[in-house]
Amino acid sequence: MSKGKAVQSIKFKLCVTFICAGLIPMYVSTIVFNYRFQDYLILSTVGVLVFVFGLFVVGRMFWTPLGKVVEAADRIADGDVWYEIGVDRTDEIGQLACAVDAMRVSMKQQIDHLDALVAERTAELEHANEKLGHDAMHDGLTGLPNRQALRSQLQTELAMFHQDESHLISVLFFDFDRFKVVNDSLGHAAGDALLCSIADRFRVELRRIDLPARFGGDEFVVLISEVESPQHALDAADRLLKVFEEAHVIDGHRIVSTASIGMVVANPRYTNAVDMIRDADAAMYQAKLAGKNQVVVFDEHMLADAKYRLKLEEDLSKAIENNELRVMYQPVIGMEDMTIVGFEALIRWEHPELGLVSPDQFIPIAEDTGQIVEVGAWILRESLQQLVRWDKELGLEHELSINVNVAKGQLIHPEFLGLVKEVLESTGISPHRLKMEITESTAIDPRHDMSVVIDRIRELGILIAMDDFGTGHSSLSLLHKFKFDILKIDQSFVQGMEESREMSAVLHSIIALAQNTGMKVVAEGAETESQVACLIAHECDMIQGYYFSCPLTAQDASVYLTEPFDYSQAA
Ligand code: C2E
Ligand code: CA
Ligand code: CA
Repeated sequence: MSKGKAVQSIKFKLCVTFICAGLIPMYVSTIVFNYRFQDYLILSTVGVLVFVFGLFVVGRMFWTPLGKVVEAADRIADGDVWYEIGVDRTDEIGQLACAVDAMRVSMKQQIDHLDALVAERTAELEHANEKLGHDAMHDGLTGLPNRQALRSQLQTELAMFHQDESHLISVLFFDFDRFKVVNDSLGHAAGDALLCSIADRFRVELRRIDLPARFGGDEFVVLISEVESPQHALDAADRLLKVFEEAHVIDGHRIVSTASIGMVVANPRYTNAVDMIRDADAAMYQAKLAGKNQVVVFDEHMLADAKYRLKLEEDLSKAIENNELRVMYQPVIGMEDMTIVGFEALIRWEHPELGLVSPDQFIPIAEDTGQIVEVGAWILRESLQQLVRWDKELGLEHELSINVNVAKGQLIHPEFLGLVKEVLESTGISPHRLKMEITESTAIDPRHDMSVVIDRIRELGILIAMDDFGTGHSSLSLLHKFKFDILKIDQSFVQGMEESREMSAVLHSIIALAQNTGMKVVAEGAETESQVACLIAHECDMIQGYYFSCPLTAQDASVYLTEPFDYSQAA
């Protein structure tokens, strides 16, 4: 019931009570004293008026303070806790007013307390929101803006460039060398310290208007604003390249981590920040390919290359399952009796849309993505099974061997040795007929001691060949350390041999040195009769090259085995 109705109801009940209290004695006096009806009417009217007046006076004494209490209670219920009841009495009504007022004071205190709590929580929430906003836009480790912050700032500046082309901007994509080596050899804490040190250099070297961002891993992207000309941006990139040539000191170690930088300058074709970053990334990839520690400016061909690479990367995962991989076999000819000693297995990919893809294009991708483990296992099994087929079908007098190229990703894989044993067992091929070709860069790895796994392979009876000798460090001490059985001299050496007397002399010494330590020497890439004659003169043990045969399909290799070419003319 509302406050108004409650007061009305009290007033009504009091009136009825008093009227009844006035009328009853009058009726009694009429009967007892036998008054006339007119007298009775006058008397009773006067009596009623006197009673009503009395009743009004007495009633006011109760319902006015009660009404105040009810009104106060109602206002408090409406939230007006500042409203004080103006009743100054000591009787029950006064006590009621005091109780209601005490309740009001208590409620006010609670509300004040709640207000303070809400204010405190709101401040905490605002702080948390601010932190969330900052974290969403910054890298947790280095404190630099992150990928998202970069994109949004670049998008804004790109829009400004479209409005006014004198507002030129440039994006530099950085990839740092040796970060993974530091991570693996000195631990993740040292890797993190290196990243922080790199970030600090950006902070010091860049202008306030430029934006350095950590893009992920050891990749950083810098947005250079207010560029005067493309040359200005290139100068900035060159300067940063020099800055990163200086060593970082991490845990007392001096670490040089040079940068590969891809650069792109805004042009009207760019409407999207993502496209500019993508192109700078493609240019960075070319800077890495070209030997690292350099700046490469993006051009359109790089984008096509990057797209092609991405397509290969995506499709490679299905290549085995779709039966798109092929093995080609290139004969290796023994110089002693001019007979074929075996084949090198060389992989090809028959891509349904792109045609035949060379291993130089997809093996590096397979190595980067780890798919080399699967691809390498496939070619090992396939080539040994082919050897079994030749054994059965051709009934050759001498045993053929098979050379299989093995990449770093395979060697360091924990199940590699198990796989090799299983393939040898299931095909029944004797281990000494298998030769594994390993390049120098695979053998030298600061993170893994390759000598352990190479020793295990040799313990199985498999022969190990050092591939592409002459393209890397050409370290003779490495040959000694790993006790290679075979040395394969790279085709660049063979093809340069005739042009330079020094090269020919070096080749002669290498062959002699390798043979003195018990190694057999294979020369690769012999294309002409004179090259073969020259290699024979240097007493090379085996030769592989287009002069004898290019890589063949298994079927053509079978024909080659049964109808051999007459090599004797080369001797
Ligand atoms: P590689 O191991 O040095 O193989 C020799 C390469 O030289 C082959 O190229 C071969 O076709 C080519 N070649 C042979 N004789 C001559 C010649 O007389 N003149 C010229 N100019 N070239 C000759 P291919 O088959 O394109 O293989 C390229 C590289 O791809 C190989 O170099 C090897 O590093 C890699 N590769 C091929 N197959 C595999 C594989 O199954 N696994 C791994 N990990 N790498 C492989
Ligand atoms: Ca090889
Ligand atoms: Ca080679």
